[in-house]
Amino acid sequence: MNFNKVEFVLSAASREGFLRDGLPQLAFAGRSNVGKSSVINRLVNRKNFARVGASPGKTSQINYFRLDGAAYLVDLPGYGYAKVSKAERDRWGRLMEAYFASGLITAGVQIVDARHKPTADDVTMVNWFYDTGCPVIVAANKLDKLKRSEIEPNLQRIRETLELREEDRLVAFSAERGDGREELMAALEAVLA
Ligand code: GDP
Repeated sequence: MNFNKVEFVLSAASREGFLRDGLPQLAFAGRSNVGKSSVINRLVNRKNFARVGASPGKTSQINYFRLDGAAYLVDLPGYGYAKVSKAERDRWGRLMEAYFASGLITAGVQIVDARHKPTADDVTMVNWFYDTGCPVIVAANKLDKLKRSEIEPNLQRIRETLELREEDRLVAFSAERGDGREELMAALEAVLA
């Protein structure tokens, strides 16, 4: 699949807007500021495709991008932003609940911060993916911020905290430098095969 062939399709703010045309859906999740937009931009080789540093008020929508006519890259709204109102958080929760219950997810791509132990919210998201029965790929982003000696222990801590299953891939990634792009593409191709 050519990851450079990508186009924005639409944003959905409720279940009525979900795409249901049978193309596989690769759902990207992560807390605000983890670099989800940057990971997506790196993956598709664009500078400003998914909006980096998007304003928190516009977070309760799901953005669909078509990849090479073969799959959707589904950008789920980020979570964990402290300044979001309760109403906005509730909206986020309803939207996520509907999407995870939709049966539309082919694979989950969970973005976490390579520097830190995954948050309780990260664990919750991964468990929602597990509940759908889909494969999960975890991208540990901001690898460039780690010392060499920190990489293995941090990856191990992520694996353990998220209770990754044997078959789930963990990819060390740097949206900034480009590390892990090939590996993430291969992992995505594998779940689509
Ligand atoms: P989002 O809210 O998850 O979509 O995160 P963004 O993509 O907007 O990134 C949040 C911040 O982290 C921005 O300042 C990015 O430049 C920075 N960032 C994203 N990925 C990386 C990375 O791999 N390494 C470093 N050092 N910074 C990154």
